Amino acid sequence: MSFVKLKLHPSILSNITSLGYESPTPIQAQAIPVLIKGRDLLGIAKTGSGKTVSYVAPILNKMAYGHAPKKSRQPKVLVLVPSRELAIQVVEVFKELSHKLPHPIKSMAIYGGVSINPQMKAIFGVDILIATPGRLLDLQRSSAIDLSKVETLVLDEADKMLNLGFEKEMQEIFELLPGKRQNMLFSATLSDQLAGINRVLLSNPEVVEIKDNA
Ligand code: ADP
Ligand code: MG
Repeated sequence: MSFVKLKLHPSILSNITSLGYESPTPIQAQAIPVLIKGRDLLGIAKTGSGKTVSYVAPILNKMAYGHAPKKSRQPKVLVLVPSRELAIQVVEVFKELSHKLPHPIKSMAIYGGVSINPQMKAIFGVDILIATPGRLLDLQRSSAIDLSKVETLVLDEADKMLNLGFEKEMQEIFELLPGKRQNMLFSATLSDQLAGINRVLLSNPEVVEIKDNA
């Protein structure tokens, strides 16, 4: 299987090649076509299996074929992550795959533990926001960000977010989003609590589960 078969925008394909990736991992091969079709997805695969590119590539693909987004405080894509470390890793992947797209895409990571003022200023014009739940709500409450135009929601390491006690914040964030959107949920594990979130969040999802011995 080759990345070429996944029908990604040529710039994204060339960015993937520049990273030295020769072929998609199993989660990428199965999740990317489903997400390009616009379906909701629950993706379960162990740590290190390449889940990030599974959602970054289809998200950028949609943007590459769409109009240049207007500069505003209204991101089109929201990725929720449990930690600052993951936010930084994920924004890096978005940036690596965004080179030479038909129009520039601004991705930004926001997280707590650092001062909020620089984030408030830098957030203007953001298209893709990667955020930890607490800091996102702080920025929303101070009107630095408006989540009412989010078209795509990703929960990455969803089980970890629940384990860290972010459920209340996550629910509060879901209330701020428009009802019509594409949802992508990725996790290494599927707990009962996560299954409960899936039922309310995902609409007729495709489930892709990669077994450990795959
Ligand atoms: P996960 O989120 O499932 O834990 P990551 O998305 O963080 O996994 O990817 C794990 C590692 O695999 C990263 O170092 C990434 O660069 C690498 N990787 C991802 N996709 C591929 C691929 N198709 N070919 C080779 N390496 C890849
Ligand atoms: Mg990951």
